[in-house]
Amino acid sequence: MQSELKGMNQSETELWAKEMELAPFRGRQIRHWLFKELAGSFDQMTSLSKDVRSLLKDFAAIEHCHIAQTRLSSDGTRKFLFRLEDGVLVESVLIPEKDHFTVCISSQAGCTMGCRFCLTAKQGFTRNLKSSEIVDQVVQVRRFLKETTGRPEDLTNVVFMGMGEPLANFDEVIKAVNNITASDALNFSCRRVTLSTSGIVPEIKRLGEEARVNLAVSLNASDDETRSRLMPVNRKYPLKELLEACRSFPLPNRRMLTFEYILIAGVNDSDQDALRLSRLLAGMRAKINLIPLNPHKGLDMSAPNPEQVIEFQNILIGKHFTAIIRKSKGQDIGAACGQLKGQWLESL
Ligand code: SAH
Ligand code: SF4
Repeated sequence: MQSELKGMNQSETELWAKEMELAPFRGRQIRHWLFKELAGSFDQMTSLSKDVRSLLKDFAAIEHCHIAQTRLSSDGTRKFLFRLEDGVLVESVLIPEKDHFTVCISSQAGCTMGCRFCLTAKQGFTRNLKSSEIVDQVVQVRRFLKETTGRPEDLTNVVFMGMGEPLANFDEVIKAVNNITASDALNFSCRRVTLSTSGIVPEIKRLGEEARVNLAVSLNASDDETRSRLMPVNRKYPLKELLEACRSFPLPNRRMLTFEYILIAGVNDSDQDALRLSRLLAGMRAKINLIPLNPHKGLDMSAPNPEQVIEFQNILIGKHFTAIIRKSKGQDIGAACGQLKGQWLESL
């Protein structure tokens, strides 16, 4: 089995180098090539001798995600379809913002959580991604920017909002976060990394203890009955427990929690819902992202009309919340929230 260097932290890489009978500083050099130079092969690591490079080739793997296809939306959003070593397909989305890019990455192939509105849920669950596969999505997308714009540093934000429930793959996700934020690796600011969860309460507590990233919670309903119908996870961890965990989540100065709320016509979009939501979140340092439901084939629900969306927003603003209407980007290429499926080769 070949070692997966992108899944290791600094001391593990140094230890590995030692086991290979290399000096520890070789570990640091390798990390520099992997994460700063974004090298795609050991041959590019020109500060290493030929012998060292051929040793690396024999015992280590360098790439874990292979770009199978990319698609560009009319709004500039680009979807990447990655093929993993075992042929499994996952997606990432590169989203252009005003002065930077955000990458939305996957933590699992498929998802077990079964949310009614989500296309990823429909495809079922294949497997958890390894930390090397999670980190490599960011590396590959940053390399794509390097090659196309010459400005890899414009990729400043990472969101775990692609396929899968990140907290259901806790250990690998945390390892990946560590390399995404480590200064000797990808060096993203913790403030610019956001993990989105459907609400697995014990893991929210653990996340607060083990990482310093932003937390987003997909709330999507203002009462237990509706939420349980939309999101089965609510039967195990109902709103009261979920919001308690959110209230005790450690928030560094000036940071806020994010709550995502998909608006679905006739299901969770009434004025009463907005008022109930404002009561649920009362007193929390939180902002609310309102996402009109993104359509996909076979979905028997729809987004409210735009007037109702604005009405819902205004009620929250009236209660002094920051409530932003998020028009999901990339709808025309199935790259918007809840549209990721990892199998669009059918159209080739
Ligand atoms: N599993 C995690 C992260 C991935 S889903 C989570 O559920 O939070 C990312 C976001 O897409 C979630 O906020 C989810 O509620 C949203 N989403 C899923 N299906 C959607 C759809 N059809 N329209 C709009 N948003 C959707
Ligand atoms: Fe999984 Fe998130 Fe989709 Fe729910 S919304 S099925 S948790 S990916």
